[in-house]
Amino acid sequence: MADCDHDCSSCGVEGCGEREEMDLRAYLNQASSVKKVFGVVSGKGGVGKSMVTGLMACAAAKAGQKTAIMDADITGPSIPTAFGLKEQLVACEYGLVPAVTRLGIDVVSLNLLIENETDPVVWRGPVIAGVIKQFWTEVWWNEEDVMFIDMPPGTGDVPLTIFQSLPLEGIVVVTSPQELVGKIVEKAVKMANLMNIPVIGLVENMSYIKCPDCGQIIRPFGESHIKKLAVQYGIPHTAEMPIDPQLAHLVDAGRIEEIQDNPLEKFTKEIL
Ligand code: ADP
Repeated sequence: MADCDHDCSSCGVEGCGEREEMDLRAYLNQASSVKKVFGVVSGKGGVGKSMVTGLMACAAAKAGQKTAIMDADITGPSIPTAFGLKEQLVACEYGLVPAVTRLGIDVVSLNLLIENETDPVVWRGPVIAGVIKQFWTEVWWNEEDVMFIDMPPGTGDVPLTIFQSLPLEGIVVVTSPQELVGKIVEKAVKMANLMNIPVIGLVENMSYIKCPDCGQIIRPFGESHIKKLAVQYGIPHTAEMPIDPQLAHLVDAGRIEEIQDNPLEKFTKEIL
């Protein structure tokens, strides 16, 4: 159109080709590069999504990959705690510099930017979505082989922004055994399909307990449905994680990287 000022935010002309082609993607800055990006999602909070993100990052780093974590769970960030990170982030000429864990994982989280980590983040969705775009664009992601994004739970505004604006290779869905029998996995798969992003992995957390004395495996929630669901939705990789008090202790103590038998080592290597 002749009088188009190319500012789609203030124009409501219907059927405008320019707006239909509007680019929602966020771009890395020139000093950054990230080869593969995986989103870790869940239907609701507390099912172990951050735990899975952390363990996958540990497995990737141990496999020799330059690894990054973007903590996009802005209102409930738990990645810094799991890795024992406390120092505030600083900026350099290329942008914000991620914190570095003992295994060399680059981490960016809002908790490393606010002064008091117990302060609640009372921001509306669009503001949070803007912060996540800034985490992609204004951070110096230095030659990362792989990035794991700890996504906010659910299928709301913020996960939608991430799906639309970041170049996700695929997503990993984390569930509890109870959720596997419900509709949560189906919802996550349908949302990813709508966005043309493949669901490449399904993790059932807290699926069993191993007796510390005799090694017997107890399934408090009955037999797992994970394999059946993976076949039903065409998800290529699956993993089951036990309820493990030792793991919970390491995470609480900021020492997740000291895990000896990482339950997601094989799963992560398959996906990378
Ligand atoms: P989410 O990111 O989905 O909100 P978290 O990863 O923060 O969930 O996990 C919630 C709590 O449950 C944390 O205290 C975590 O240490 C604990 N937890 C998660 N998975 C396990 C597990 N497999 N065994 C023991 N504790 C776990």
